[in-house]
Amino acid sequence: MKFKTNGLILKEQSIGEQDKIVTVLTASHGVIRAFVRRAKNIKSPKCASTGLLCYSQLSLFENKGTYTIDEAQSIEMFIKLRNDVIKMSLAQYFCELSLTLCPKESESSDYLRLILNALHLLCNSDKDPLLLKACVEMRLLGLSGYMPDLIMCDSCGEYETANMMFVPKTGKLFCGDCAFKNGVHGIPATNSVITALRHTFYQDFEKLFSFSLKRESLIQLNVITESYLSCITEKDFLTLQFFKMMSE
Ligand SMILES: [Zn+2]
Repeated sequence: MKFKTNGLILKEQSIGEQDKIVTVLTASHGVIRAFVRRAKNIKSPKCASTGLLCYSQLSLFENKGTYTIDEAQSIEMFIKLRNDVIKMSLAQYFCELSLTLCPKESESSDYLRLILNALHLLCNSDKDPLLLKACVEMRLLGLSGYMPDLIMCDSCGEYETANMMFVPKTGKLFCGDCAFKNGVHGIPATNSVITALRHTFYQDFEKLFSFSLKRESLIQLNVITESYLSCITEKDFLTLQFFKMMSE
């Protein structure tokens, strides 16, 4: 069966002299692996448009669950990312996150839109990479069904008090008093960090990246998002370690 879809190349692997396999996040089929024949022929338009982090229009052929890319035309190559090692390492972390959390072989346009928007802002705006990172981590988890309960203190129902605490293992929020009374251990957070955390999950997509936070609070927010992500995925992301190393 032949079909066309747009997709972002998340990973590429060489096969022999000429061919490669790419892993693509597509709008219509989620994450799929596809062969690209003669991909290394530099004159072939498929060569550049099936490279890592290219967003391309793809003509695919599917036979018994095996996909082949017949043609590819690039829409956006995020060229500017390639000159900035911090931004590029974060973009690669977004790819690894997508490989882990995006659905396979089912409709995924919301996931694709999220990653493309984040890459666009990473490439063309001066938004802090840590803000983009926290939004992508939490929204991807939200889309995948891992919603924490951030409305209020899980014990007394208080919406906002000093010394709120987030518990990554359960995805629950506690006020300082209830955490103490119940012997709950979590990550303490200021009100502005809790507000930002709520924003990453509950805000409309159009406004997702539209907030600002002091650098110190952004760091605290990222401690929370990384801990929650790690509890859910039980995975060490090599690209995240590399991004952190580069950002130091
Ligand atoms: Zn409470």
